[in-house]
Amino acid sequence: MKTTGYAAYSADKPLAPYDFERRELRGNDVAIEILYSGVCHSDLHTARGDWGPYTAPLVPGHEIVGKVIAVGPEVEHYAVGDPVGVGCMVDSCQDCDQCDHGEEQYCRNGMTATYDSKDRITGEPTQGGYSKHIVVREEFVLAMPDGLDLSRAAPLLCAGITTYSPLRTWNVGPGSRVGVIGMGGLGHMAIKLAIALGAHVTVLSRSPSKEKDALELGADAVLISTDKDAMKAARNSLDLIIDTVPVKHDVTPYMPLLDVDGTLAIVGQVGPMEEFMTPPAIMGRRRIAGSLIGGIAETQEMLDFCGRMNILPECEMIKMDEINTAFDRMEKADVRYRFVIDMSSVDAPAA
Ligand code: NAP
Ligand code: ZN
Repeated sequence: MKTTGYAAYSADKPLAPYDFERRELRGNDVAIEILYSGVCHSDLHTARGDWGPYTAPLVPGHEIVGKVIAVGPEVEHYAVGDPVGVGCMVDSCQDCDQCDHGEEQYCRNGMTATYDSKDRITGEPTQGGYSKHIVVREEFVLAMPDGLDLSRAAPLLCAGITTYSPLRTWNVGPGSRVGVIGMGGLGHMAIKLAIALGAHVTVLSRSPSKEKDALELGADAVLISTDKDAMKAARNSLDLIIDTVPVKHDVTPYMPLLDVDGTLAIVGQVGPMEEFMTPPAIMGRRRIAGSLIGGIAETQEMLDFCGRMNILPECEMIKMDEINTAFDRMEKADVRYRFVIDMSSVDAPAA
């Protein structure tokens, strides 16, 4: 199937148009016309080479919402016309203990990422959602709940699940005290989801200009992380902190905010961190943890939860050819709070 989109050609060049082929449908494949594609900071990290070299051209995008246009003969759960989503994974071994208990993101044999990965059967590069179409095996396709505004739902497929999963892992519910560092795409979803789960939510931002928005989203408190007195006054006040900062930083100033046995869960993929001081971890048995997206079953649970509670990201809709400006703005933390590409801004390739 011919398709078209935008690709990264090298770390120092802007994304540019790219025509390419999607595979012929296998028995268990679902072909999707992509309607909306969210723009994650991971797309920017990848395209700019923050995570090392990549095979170009590379089509980013792992927050995908669209409708089914064809299904393979063995597909059981989807039919033409269904609204569906695809997140950060498109395959895994389906055979190891991690896949068996629904945590394909930790597949012992390595999950297949939506882009910058290799198809498990042909070895061809996987290509993501900044494109008109995608073909994905049924097990990695998500059902979009009825009534959820599809034009705003795409960021749930990465920003949503990446923050929902640690909230669930650390049993956040009524009475939990949750902090969120960085009010960007992931951070603003962490705020909304933690509130919906019943938590008391404190936002930790460098940007005083985001304070009003944080309170409007329902946050109970905002701490400007550069305000030393406020940070001191808030010691021992949190059970879980979700750290979404996308660059190397020092977690030491945040650790004392945790109560005894509290956890700081890092989701930002930044490589080496600044050295951190051990005393705040030791004096209170505080932990530093990490978390990677979430499994397919948990992603469906999160989508259904958002459907029931009508939780949607705050989005700024862009056209495909505005992606390079969007990347520059994302780098400056100038996004409120997720760019979503309207894929109708790209013409379908000639048949
Ligand atoms: P984003 O929309 O750019 O938001 C990041 C936020 O972090 C910014 O809005 C800003 O908030 C804060 N920030 C930015 N630069 C900073 C700096 N120099 N120092 C301190 N804070 C800074 O990014 P995102 O899409 O939410 O992604 C965040 C990170 O998570 C990225 O590294 C991404 O690759 C990673 N990620 C991980 C997973 C996973 O599975 N673990 C999944 C998706 C993404 P304030 O203005 O409020 O300070
Ligand atoms: Zn992402």
